[in-house]
Amino acid sequence: MDDNQRHAFRKALQSWYRQNYRKLPWRETTDPYRIWVSEVMLQQTQVATVIGYFNRFIGRFPDISSLAQTDLQAVLKLWEGLGYYSRARNLHKAVRLLAASYDGRVPDTPEQFKQLPGVGDYINAAVQSIAFNRPLAVVDGNVKRVLARLFQIGTPVNQSGSHKAFQEVAQPLLDPDQPADFNQGMMELGALVCRPAHPQCDVCPVSLFCEAYASGSVDQFPRRVKKPPTPLRHMAMGVVRRNGRILMVQRHPDGFLGGMWEFPGGRVTGSLEPAEACVGGIKDAVNLNVAINRHLGQVRHAYTHFKLRLDLFLCRPGPGKVQLEGYESFRWILPGQLADLPLHKAVHKCLPALFDSLG
Ligand code: SF4
Repeated sequence: MDDNQRHAFRKALQSWYRQNYRKLPWRETTDPYRIWVSEVMLQQTQVATVIGYFNRFIGRFPDISSLAQTDLQAVLKLWEGLGYYSRARNLHKAVRLLAASYDGRVPDTPEQFKQLPGVGDYINAAVQSIAFNRPLAVVDGNVKRVLARLFQIGTPVNQSGSHKAFQEVAQPLLDPDQPADFNQGMMELGALVCRPAHPQCDVCPVSLFCEAYASGSVDQFPRRVKKPPTPLRHMAMGVVRRNGRILMVQRHPDGFLGGMWEFPGGRVTGSLEPAEACVGGIKDAVNLNVAINRHLGQVRHAYTHFKLRLDLFLCRPGPGKVQLEGYESFRWILPGQLADLPLHKAVHKCLPALFDSLG
């Protein structure tokens, strides 16, 4: 595109955006903290899911100071079910840093903001452009798809390193005077018009500029590399009951599902039976000898990088105290207190079988 075409493209996109954007809670505010929270939630999660989480989160933590003063457990509890818990942990770490050293404000320069935990290229560009009108082009999945079609870009959108290639195309296209509306316009166009399947080219405000549309090759973009099939992981966990209480363990804060709570257990590998893996895993993780009472059920859950099959057992512990090996902390809780702990999705799926067994 030459300068004139770029100018016309920006005008068409922004004018469409201003007339068609969805009224979402984070678009009704100019508060950089709230915009930041929304963008963190929107990474990897659909808008429809984020709305409820965002409203509850902001209702409970309306500003940096209220979030910084809360312990991580309460933050994870509110994030429960949204997944990708490192987002919540990083956000919490970041606001604590800001509360301690930045007067409780969101930095208004990309260089400073990017120093914070969890702030990568996407969050930096989104928050700095929307909240502070900084001229940084946002590149997310929707924007990549729009760009791939507009310019017939052959780089697969899911290839590692593709972000840089798309960023190089997005930056000169950005309207430096209206980066907030331009970026949101590109994302909204991808979400509402230039959709993955059945893009609505006949009502698209920028169809005049679209190379794929002109050449009739829209269905060939964006390109993707074929990923290997998602591996299956098999786990066995035990509901260990003693004096009416259940043993719950908390995962290490910095790993996968960090800070979330679950039943102790281990992986089912090789020729191990799930019950053996459960008994062995509990011994390794909390140093308790348990006997299996019975199998409570099996649940399945799909994570991004693997599928999980989880067998759950009711277990009777032998004497002795818990000594943690593979977890951050533990609690013996009453079944009714399960609702107070942040639990990851697979554990939630186990709860009906658990409560059935307790009568
Ligand atoms: Fe997407 Fe079609 Fe618009 Fe091109 S014309 S940007 S393919 S919706």
